[in-house]
Amino acid sequence: MEAVSRVIETPPLGPSRRRYANAAAVLESSLDPPELLDLLQDIESAFGRIRRGARWGARVLDLDIVLWSGGAWAEPRLIVPHPQFRARTFVLAPATQIASDWRDPITGLTLAQLQARLTRADPLA
Ligand code: AMP
Repeated sequence: MEAVSRVIETPPLGPSRRRYANAAAVLESSLDPPELLDLLQDIESAFGRIRRGARWGARVLDLDIVLWSGGAWAEPRLIVPHPQFRARTFVLAPATQIASDWRDPITGLTLAQLQARLTRADPLA
């Protein structure tokens, strides 16, 4: 693990009363993106199988690949950069803490610029 952000608490978007804890990490790995996704999904299922009282709880962990140092990757089950990350403060805020100069290969903008674009006062500017 090269860098880990602080954990940011995020209110739910919809009517749900659940709150979310979001964080980002920079990983160095010899795995290619599909191999890494397999590993992340194994970790997700391990967490999803935690028993709560008498029954199995809902999935409690969501692990996504946001960016990859190799640029873009596209296949039916995996798209990198993550298609929604540019619109999500709960992704950009923690990611900017640890990799603000990392550039999105699609827009050419850094994480800091994407975050500024999302949070600046005038949304029409
Ligand atoms: P979700 O339940 O929203 O986390 O969606 C999970 C599904 O998104 C997985 O089955 C993946 O195949 C797919 N997926 C596509 N691109 C990505 C990505 N960059 N990171 C993680 N999952 C991805």
